[in-house]
Amino acid sequence: GCGICIKKCPFKAISIVNLPDELERMLVHRYGVNGFKLYGLPIPREGKILGVIGKNGAGKSTALRILAGELRPNLGRTEGQPPGWDEIIKQFRGTELQNYFRILAEGKIRAAHKIQYVDMVPRRVRGKLATLLEKADERGIWKELAKELNIAHLLDRDIRQLSGGELQRFLIAAVLSKDANLYLFDEPSSYLDIRERIRVARTIRRYVPNNSYVVVVEHDIAMLDYLSDHVVVMYGEPGVYGIASKPYGVRAGINHFLKGYLPAENMRIRSEPIRYTISFTQQELQEARRYIGWGRLVVRLGGFTLEAEPGELHEGEVLGVVGPNGIGKTTFVRTLAGEIKPAEGSIDKPEGQLRISYKPQYVNPDTFGDITVEQLLREANPSTLSPGSWLNVEIVRRLRVDRLLDRRVSELSGGELQKVAVATALAREADIYLLDEPSAYLDVEERLSVAKAIRRLTEARGAAAIIVEHDIAVQDYIANRILVFTGAPGSHGRASKPLPLPEGMNLFLRELGITIRKDPETGRPRINKEDSFLDRMQKRLGKYYYIP
Ligand code: ADP
Ligand code: ADP
Ligand code: MG
Ligand code: MG
Repeated sequence: GCGICIKKCPFKAISIVNLPDELERMLVHRYGVNGFKLYGLPIPREGKILGVIGKNGAGKSTALRILAGELRPNLGRTEGQPPGWDEIIKQFRGTELQNYFRILAEGKIRAAHKIQYVDMVPRRVRGKLATLLEKADERGIWKELAKELNIAHLLDRDIRQLSGGELQRFLIAAVLSKDANLYLFDEPSSYLDIRERIRVARTIRRYVPNNSYVVVVEHDIAMLDYLSDHVVVMYGEPGVYGIASKPYGVRAGINHFLKGYLPAENMRIRSEPIRYTISFTQQELQEARRYIGWGRLVVRLGGFTLEAEPGELHEGEVLGVVGPNGIGKTTFVRTLAGEIKPAEGSIDKPEGQLRISYKPQYVNPDTFGDITVEQLLREANPSTLSPGSWLNVEIVRRLRVDRLLDRRVSELSGGELQKVAVATALAREADIYLLDEPSAYLDVEERLSVAKAIRRLTEARGAAAIIVEHDIAVQDYIANRILVFTGAPGSHGRASKPLPLPEGMNLFLRELGITIRKDPETGRPRINKEDSFLDRMQKRLGKYYYIP
């Protein structure tokens, strides 16, 4: 090993001769004696948007708290007197950090910070949206922002009545209304649909004051790509240490991250590259066993109506579900799960023997009771705990849930809870797996681990899966057919029949009015800038989803 990690060094290819010394000089902060260590920081540039990408547990949120001045760096000194600003500034002599810490120490940074876990906010803040926004506003733009972020119709609501996506947009509006010079957005896309993600990206671009500093931490690579001017990769050993890379151009930075090698650092950060190629050739699904079918369905819930065209789901198939929030995706999934009875039409499935495993959109830890992760997994399927078993390797270890076995479910973080809920749903023996938004709060690698686990599972068990997912890179990677939801959110939704991936994506993107191309090196989807040459050309050709 190189002496940085307390565990076996994962970087077999380290080739920088004097890395440990060099790196140790960049130690910014350490949580407690044997706690997590953070090396370097993603340093924003004036007037630019800096994107940050990296694994969960790599120190991204910690870095934002330090940039904002919420957490004073201790240079790794966890005992005795913490270092003063003079010492901190001296420590980083000759680096970009020195300059940044100097202006931070001089009190010249006024930060506005959108925190990662938006769900925490209603527990601490009470009141109506209009009152809260007006109180937060320092720039006289809260009404404009409310309109821009599509929350103007919610101003009379109490903050506790908001859905995840509404809460997210409210907090982004509140942060943008601050008169600051540093704007920090920690995972702004959680709970948002694609249209909202793009709207948020455009609103951030338009409303941050000129010459301010902006940092965005984001796991949706299409959104990060669309929003950022530069990208910093945070790498290391999750929970042990994290290192901020040098800033890269957006396309290069994301591609280096996916390929697992940082050229400026000469550092391998992953042994295998991530490629978003379509690995699923369209199978002859007609010959596969048919698990479930539905005639034309009408589902009514309060004032909302969902209409679904007839469709069916086959063995070995992953059906992706896309569409805006409030359009009936969850309602559709719950109808298939048997939780809601359709007003018209029926679900056609074999008598009795169809087993369904369902991961709901919002995972409430209370529903599991006061148990540990290990107990939860044992209940779902004892084989998850046998070392070397298929489920143990492909689900528990692949999703790194093995590290959480002793933890109580009620004490997990949002990302940990999501992984445990997904692992539990996949561990159950079933014919159909229904996963409603499995990637909220997961990082890029975890999203792909989940996607791979689902694909392997459907193939190995001859099962089928339905995945509701807003991350187009993930959807593109996992789905072999797509169900597109259109209509008027909150009032009525229409589900298409299951469409082949390219056709479904094309319809979906046409609805959104955006075009996508594939990055030739990594296969990842990239959103074309509005009105760019490619955007206009693809729209003219009707190829909203373009595969070269
Ligand atoms: P990321 O945002 O990249 O997921 P975080 O900055 O939240 O990472 O956390 C990095 C590591 O630091 C994690 O292992 C986390 O458990 C640990 N950590 C975060 N906050 C604290 C804290 N207040 N005290 C001790 N450890 C912490
Ligand atoms: P999506 O998953 O696409 O975001 P949902 O299926 O959760 O959408 O919701 C569709 C619409 O149905 C929303 O307007 C929602 O408020 C409404 N709705 C959902 N559940 C109920 C319910 N139990 N009673 C009344 N309306 C509901
Ligand atoms: Mg974080
Ligand atoms: Mg939903």
